[in-house]
This record gives sequence, structure tokens and C-alpha cells, in this order.
Amino acid sequence: MSTVAEQAWRERRLAQIVAYEASEKRSNFISEEELQAVLKRKANPERLEVEEVLSKAREFHGLSPEDAAVLLNNRDTELWAEIFQAANWIKQEIYGNRIVLFAPLYISSPCVNNCTYCGFRQTNDQVAKKTLSMAELEEEVRVLTSKGHKRLIVVYSEHPASDVDFMCRTIEKIYASKNGRGEIRRVNVNAAPLTVEEYRRLKDVGIGTYQVFQETYHYDTYRRMHPLNTLKGSYLWRLFALHRAQEAGIDDVAIGALFGLYDWRFEVLGLLCHALDLEREFGVGPHTISFPRLEPALNTPLTTNSPYLVSDEDFKKAVAVLRCAVPYTGMILTCRERPHFRREAIPLGVSQVDAGSRIAVGGYAEMEQEHIPDREQFQLGDTRSLDEFIYELCQDGYLPSFCTSCYRAARTGCNFMALAKKGLVKYFCIPNAVLTFKEYLLDYAAPERRSAGEDIIRQYTEEFGRQMPQQAGRLQALLQRVAAGERDLKM
Ligand code: SAM
Ligand code: SF4
Repeated sequence: MSTVAEQAWRERRLAQIVAYEASEKRSNFISEEELQAVLKRKANPERLEVEEVLSKAREFHGLSPEDAAVLLNNRDTELWAEIFQAANWIKQEIYGNRIVLFAPLYISSPCVNNCTYCGFRQTNDQVAKKTLSMAELEEEVRVLTSKGHKRLIVVYSEHPASDVDFMCRTIEKIYASKNGRGEIRRVNVNAAPLTVEEYRRLKDVGIGTYQVFQETYHYDTYRRMHPLNTLKGSYLWRLFALHRAQEAGIDDVAIGALFGLYDWRFEVLGLLCHALDLEREFGVGPHTISFPRLEPALNTPLTTNSPYLVSDEDFKKAVAVLRCAVPYTGMILTCRERPHFRREAIPLGVSQVDAGSRIAVGGYAEMEQEHIPDREQFQLGDTRSLDEFIYELCQDGYLPSFCTSCYRAARTGCNFMALAKKGLVKYFCIPNAVLTFKEYLLDYAAPERRSAGEDIIRQYTEEFGRQMPQQAGRLQALLQRVAAGERDLKM
């Protein structure tokens, strides 16, 4: 049951959303009929057609919904192997073989909404809701920085206790928390849609990316998942959430769909249309795309009985097609997925992953408990430590990165995409990944795992020296300064 104060807050917010809906001039860029028609028209693509689309993808121009539908509907196993290879190659060409690491930090769970798939929904009385106090927040950050994390995504439920004032206070607190050499250098945000004014306040406290998942682009499904009289009930308020963030000057925005609510092929096209519309209006698409898959949550039957649950094979196809369709955008694979499956999916174009994650509010202070179902939004598939996960990345030849320098050097939005489109991003990303990974190895890695990391650093430093001989000396000099104790150096 909600309190009188909660109800009053919700009513005021609802009135604001209704007024926004009446005043929004943009037209809905998701045409269900068109997307369904495209999927039908391309239901049985010929081999040649698939190969033509793949050639286009390899030129990094991105794909139209029509092209993406050709790949999504391919039935030929051999051609799927080619699509997977193309996705891997595109990622390597644009970003190199580095993987950016982050952790989610759940700050609040009391919520005025009632999303049918979420353990935090208001009517779910089997999950205990909690908002971190400032002291508890400091403790969570202390645990995260003591493991080596530098980049967070902070996650808030929608509630008067976690309004924009609270968000600003908590973000400032995180940036101010120092722990020896440990510190958080980039705070990204996942929270409910806000007004332009509210986004401006978040920009002022220095957030990185603002992330809102549409959950499903299919209108009728959206209606069923999000009751009408709730704040999340407005499809358009959410659909244009990131357009408003851009208006407020937040130029790194992140989209996502919750796979398992509706047909996965349709959701891929929805994500693509979203990316294209942001690019059309602001000259820059989303900074990242996420593809969370529905996971079991306590007392939340839809999470296990949805008719649209996505199999591992189909999930991999969705990831690879997204990589081909939106080549310059970062792609995020989370700890929702199980360890062995993460290893299979990362090569399909993933550029960012979380690791060592806990998603109960206050969960890092109880790190040894892998699951706390009666405080979690859903159940995580990968609860390995950051260090264990990094060791696996090294074994697979990836370069783990804690880099946050683009955003702090104003290489965001259009500036970042311009570099990406010239193929230049990897020339910043690789050396900065090397420098931040070196910090990690010195300050946090288990001694028995360090030599695997040093091998990776050697390999990527040599490779960088071959590709950018004029910059090789500078990287070597910076590495020596890191070894001598300096931190936060960048190319
Ligand atoms: N309350 C904010 C909102 O709804 O925008 C923050 C989002 S929520 C804490 C983070 C995301 O988790 C949601 O956008 C949704 O996509 C995802 N999520 C919710 N329930 C889930 C489940 N059972 N399995 C996997 N992901 C889930
Ligand atoms: Fe609240 Fe977000 Fe969960 Fe919906 S998904 S119930 S808005 S926390």
C-alpha cells in the first residue's frame, strides 16, 4: 500500500506526464505495422540477399530496418556463422579487442510503478524494499573501489525518496568518495525518464551516460506490462526520454529493450529505429545499446512463463544483428547471463560488461552472499568476482579496460562518434585501456593472476607500437610512471 505522500507525489508526476504527452511535437518513430510488414516481406531471404546485407554491414554504414530484417530472418546455419563472424570483425575494427568493465550500484528499490516483470514493483510484498542512506552508499562505494572498479551505473527505482534531488546528492557523494588509490571516475545512470530541467541538474553533477530501457517497443505489450495509471504507463514519455536528455545537453544516452516480453526480432528493429531517430534529430545515435534478458524474480511469474522467453541461440542472433546494424555504438552484456554463455556472446560484438556485480540494494556490503532473492530485482546469472572474470578475459585474449578518459576529455556525443567513424577510437581506447589495466594489476589483482594480465599488456603495447610507432614511446613512458605509483594517466 502506498502512503498519502507517495500518492500525492505520483499524482503530481502523472499530471506532468499527461501535460507532456499533449505537448510533444515529435511523432512516434515506431510504426508497428511497418515493422511487422518488413519482417513479413523479408521472411525467407535468399542466400545472396543475406550476403549483400553482410557486405554493407562490413562497410560500417549501418543497416536499415529492411536490411536488418533480412539478417534476422535468415534460416541458414552456415550463414549465421558468417553473420557472427562479421559482428566480431566490425567490433574489432572499430573498438579493437578491449572490453570495458563497470559495476551496477542499486541505490533504491521502493517503487510507485507496477511493472509485471520486476521484483521491485509496488505490489510485490515478498521483496523487501530499501533506499540506501548516505553512510550505506559510502560503504557500497568503498567495497566497489576496493575491488578496482572505476565506472558505475547507478540504478534507481521511481519514488519520491529517490527523486532528482536525491540522485544528485548520491552522485556527488560517489564522486567525492576516495579509498586510497580507489575512486569512481564515471557515474552512469539508469533511472526513470525525467523532464529536461531535471536532466540538466544531472548534467551539472557530471553524470556520464543516461540510460533508459524502453523494455518493449511493441505498444500493446507495453500496455500490458505497465498499468495505465502508473508513471511508467506512458509509452511516449519513455520513448522520448533520451531525446529530452539530449535536449538538456546529456549527449551520451543509452537505449535498451528487455528481451522476453515480445518477439525478439521485433525488439531488434525497435532498437534500430530508436538509434536511427536519435541520430536523425541530434546527429548522434545512442552511446550504448543494452539487451537485458528476462531473469527470474521472486513472486514474479511472468519472468518464467512469458511466451516470448528468448533462447540462447536466438539471443546470440539478436546481439550479432545489432552489432552489424549499429556499428559505432557500444554494446553492453550484463551479469544477467550465465558465465559460460557470456563467454560465447562477448565475441559477437560486445564492448562493455559488468563484473563482480550484486544487485540487492546494499548487496556489496554483503558481498559473500551471491544472491539475496528477497531484496533483488531479479536473479543474476554471473556472480563471479571481478578478478576471476578478468582472468577469463585475459585467457581469451581480450584487453580489460577501466578507461573513463573519453568522457572526461569531452569526447562524448558527436565528438566521440566522429572519431569512431574515422576508425580512430581504438587508438585512444587501446593505450588508455592498457594504462588503466596496469593500474588494476598493480593495485587489485590477485598475485597468482597478475602474470596473465602482464602478458596481455605486453601483447597490446607491442601491437599498438606497430600500428602507431610515433606514439609508442609515449605509452611506454606513461606505463613506467604508472609502475612508479602515478595514477589516472591517459594518452
Ligand atoms: N526504475 C527504473 C526504470 O524502470 O526505468 C530503473 C530501471 S530497473 C531498476 C533496470 C532495468 O532492469 C529495467 O529497465 C528492466 O529492463 C530490467 N529488469 C527489470 N526486471 C527484470 C527482470 N526480471 N529480469 C531482467 N531484467 C529486468
Ligand atoms: Fe519500478 Fe523500474 Fe521495477 Fe518498473 S522496472 S517496477 S519502474 S524499478
